[in-house]
Amino acid sequence: MDIITEPSALGGRAREWARAGRQVGFVPTMGYLHAGHERLMALARERSEVVVASVFVNPTQFGPNEDLDAYPRDLDRDAALARRIGVDVLFAPRPEAMYAPEAATWVEVPALARHLCGASRPTHFRGVCTVVAKLFLLVRPTLAVFGQKDWQQLAIIRRMTADLGFGVEIVGAPIVREADGLALSSRNVRLTPAERAEAAAINQGLALAGELVRGGEGDVGRVLAAVRARYAAEMPSGTVDYLACVDPQTIEPVTTIAGPVLFAAAVQFSGARLIDNRFVDVK
Ligand code: AMP
Repeated sequence: MDIITEPSALGGRAREWARAGRQVGFVPTMGYLHAGHERLMALARERSEVVVASVFVNPTQFGPNEDLDAYPRDLDRDAALARRIGVDVLFAPRPEAMYAPEAATWVEVPALARHLCGASRPTHFRGVCTVVAKLFLLVRPTLAVFGQKDWQQLAIIRRMTADLGFGVEIVGAPIVREADGLALSSRNVRLTPAERAEAAAINQGLALAGELVRGGEGDVGRVLAAVRARYAAEMPSGTVDYLACVDPQTIEPVTTIAGPVLFAAAVQFSGARLIDNRFVDVK
């Protein structure tokens, strides 16, 4: 596995792959890799001739009071994991190599960023879209794999990719969880032991929402009230940033359940904000 830090060097390799007609799979990450990332890389490995993964803590997707500096980093460990999965090229650029000081161009999909994380983090998704667009232009992938843990991000990337005609197949990968159901996240290491124990309730609350809906409850207000009560009882250290039920495609709030929905939550702990979601299809 090669570790490339210069965008121009990666661009050069990508042009060689394109000339040779190689299928390139791409997995963008912010590093501090875990089994969730591993799943994405394994999917890309199965479906492509060349696999590129990136590790880049993208400054433009962090708000002014967010955890950019505190975000965990360990490139040596990430490189060992990526090598084990069979990644061919790990791209780990410095922020200055990705953004010129005078950079002034943004890519955004405002219609899908109005709710959930887009409401709490107003500049987050334009940072994500901008960096993913730049990475797509460098890597020129055939396919790119994103996790359903960041469901809204996946919906936004699909829209951006279609609208800008990148010609990249976007593959969504299922959420990988700890034994107690907590979704794996690089930020989980920033939880205190007590918070870590409580955090399992995030997924349990979303599972409860699914059970209520499958049991015939169609009033979203009542479902969310039940989940909130569970969170209040079992997660006293967490502050619920949002708990919502939205249309899985448009990310617009749903009040009465008449088709597939997405329950999504964000919970702020002392050193980490965690997100999770559950797709529920009533059949
Ligand atoms: P991150 O490094 O957290 O920005 O995530 C990079 C990619 O990994 C994104 O596409 C995430 O959705 C995905 N990802 C992160 N955590 C998980 C998880 N627990 N299960 C599946 N995919 C994940």
